[in-house]
Amino acid sequence: MAIRPIVKWPDPRLRQETKQVTSFDETIRNLCKDLEDTMIAAKGLGIAAIQIGVPKSIFMIDASIVENRDNPLIFINPEIITLGDELEELEEGCLSFPSVYVKIKRPMDVHYKAMDLEGNSFDIEATDMLARAIQHEHDHLTGKLLVDFAGPLKTRSIRRTMKQLNTDGTEYISTSPHENY
Ligand SMILES: [Zn+2]
Repeated sequence: MAIRPIVKWPDPRLRQETKQVTSFDETIRNLCKDLEDTMIAAKGLGIAAIQIGVPKSIFMIDASIVENRDNPLIFINPEIITLGDELEELEEGCLSFPSVYVKIKRPMDVHYKAMDLEGNSFDIEATDMLARAIQHEHDHLTGKLLVDFAGPLKTRSIRRTMKQLNTDGTEYISTSPHENY
């Protein structure tokens, strides 16, 4: 399939409303293959379809963060069932904000449901890193972004960094030990 360009902030396409998937066909399978190729090429741990300019309710997470397997976990038309009470603050990166990291406080547990590539529903009790990755990607589906968690000073520095990167025009590949979704 194909590696697609990643949409970077402040591109307004990242704020588009995402649409539910209604037919689980070849188009969706091909889109997921492209998403996977793009995620791997960018060394991401997760990616949402809106990050390659497709405003559909789809994201995936690199399965190797939770279990030792190659294929990604795919979430289509997902919904949060419940969020845990215990919070943890950690730095998060995002493929749409290369080299930017923001401290975000999130619930450590999430009970989540979604559909797979065949349109079958499943639910998942996620903790720690997977719970954080799910919440980060879920935010993408609602147009919420890393910068929305930053204070005014940090926002200004993010704006400067992104202006520089978008001017350079080079495709950034993460070499940081931080996690990018
Ligand atoms: Zn992201």
